[in-house]
Amino acid sequence: MSKKVRVRFAPSPTGGLHLGGVRTVLYNYLFAKKHGGDFIVRIEDTDQSRYVPGAEEYIFDCLRWCGLEPDESVQHGGNVGPYRQSERKALYKKYAQQLIDQGHAYYAFDTPEELEQMREKNKTAENPSPQYDQHLRHKMRNSLTLTEAEVKNLLDQNTPHVIRIKMPEGKTLSFTDLIRGEVSFDTSTVDDKVLLKADGMPTYHLAVVVDDYLMKITHAFRGEEWLPSAPVHLLVWQYLFGWEHMPQWAHFPLILGPTGKLSKRDGAKYGFPVFAMNWKDPKSGELTEGFKEKGFLPEAFVNLLALLGWNEGTEKEVYAIDELINAFSMERVHSSGAKFDYEKAKWFNHEWIKKSSASRLLPFVRNQFEKANLIVADTDQLEKVIDLVKERCTLLSDFVEQSRFFFERPSQIDTASILSKWSPEKEAFFSSLIHYYEQTHQWTAQELEKILKDLALSQSLKVGELMLPLRIMLVGGKFGPGVFDIAALLGQQETLQRLVQAKQLILKGI
Ligand code: GLU
Repeated sequence: MSKKVRVRFAPSPTGGLHLGGVRTVLYNYLFAKKHGGDFIVRIEDTDQSRYVPGAEEYIFDCLRWCGLEPDESVQHGGNVGPYRQSERKALYKKYAQQLIDQGHAYYAFDTPEELEQMREKNKTAENPSPQYDQHLRHKMRNSLTLTEAEVKNLLDQNTPHVIRIKMPEGKTLSFTDLIRGEVSFDTSTVDDKVLLKADGMPTYHLAVVVDDYLMKITHAFRGEEWLPSAPVHLLVWQYLFGWEHMPQWAHFPLILGPTGKLSKRDGAKYGFPVFAMNWKDPKSGELTEGFKEKGFLPEAFVNLLALLGWNEGTEKEVYAIDELINAFSMERVHSSGAKFDYEKAKWFNHEWIKKSSASRLLPFVRNQFEKANLIVADTDQLEKVIDLVKERCTLLSDFVEQSRFFFERPSQIDTASILSKWSPEKEAFFSSLIHYYEQTHQWTAQELEKILKDLALSQSLKVGELMLPLRIMLVGGKFGPGVFDIAALLGQQETLQRLVQAKQLILKGI
């Protein structure tokens, strides 16, 4: 029997969750669900200098909003915890020690000043930032250059030190990426990365391997930016656990903005969100807008992210999560960068708003109304309005403008647009229309349309010229869904009051 699929998302809690991060979550989630596996979230917080308070909770909030709940995590529990690397600190030391004992890693005692000197002394035009590697390690203060007694002495005195991997010379390492196929590296081009830092914390390079092993991860999917680290990880895997236990890897393509890799600044510059949800940086207080607050439905956000770097090979674009789980395969994820197009993102949202039932949209719309101080108690009426205007809404915030007039009389009536084509005939027509609308007992859109058309015919007026003034009288301007649908929903009394009031305004304006 093959092993149960186990995948992980391993964010560092350093700030807002970029849409590239959510796409990584999504592809992991889809893969896990498709194969009946587990989706694990592991918090990679070993770099204390980059730790940002609140970022961890924020990540879980984003996942919850997207409907991508982990099976195991700090918040969800599980059998292979702790799921926060800072709480696993003691564990990594043992593996770093094992690498030293095997001769694959070494202690390095160089101070920051010594490292700086090394860079200064060795930099050339071709190599402006020399690395701690096979060419330079022999000139530095480490357990490869010092005697055993010196090393022991330094360690006994608790001299600050790190543990570095000893990259082998001239070896070719390869692995098969599920998206990219075979990928190879020459170890001579890779520096001796730090595995354990002076504060006893592991770096990502050690922790990712140890944790993927201990958490029984079968597939490790991450962003393309981690590809250059792969040779280090391959070696750590080989030395500590053996390649046969290694997860299968895939590296997702970058998400591109208008000017290369999509950055937070692109969002601010071009006026579209880059984070899943609003993120307020606790230090600077800077607020970066999220897709949620911009007015995206989570279904649409997930759908648009799925298609940002993957397609099924058909014309289909609108997918619900279950359809994505069915259709998704890692082999169909593209290897080249995926361009983010905000107009297309809005298209997805519009499609999802149109497709969603009024009851699904209700809480989102209520939320938008609250923000706009629009109070509506009648849920039935609100659902009817939602159904009527949803076609016209691209963002959830559009519901406010598209439906405010149902619940509040328009604060302004564009009488200028009516007056430019007003005539005594129209004046007479609207007086009769008000009369007939008062008399009818059948307050439906069809009936109201019939009354207007019959009346127009009897007075030899063109229907087209009457609809616009009627609309403006009811909603205040030239917008909104079908005018008879509006009147039907407003109800007889409210419609008549608006017509009478607007007519008085027009008379004043003549
Ligand atoms: N902590 C890494 C990050 O923040 C995780 C990379 C990985 O998934 O291995 O992206």
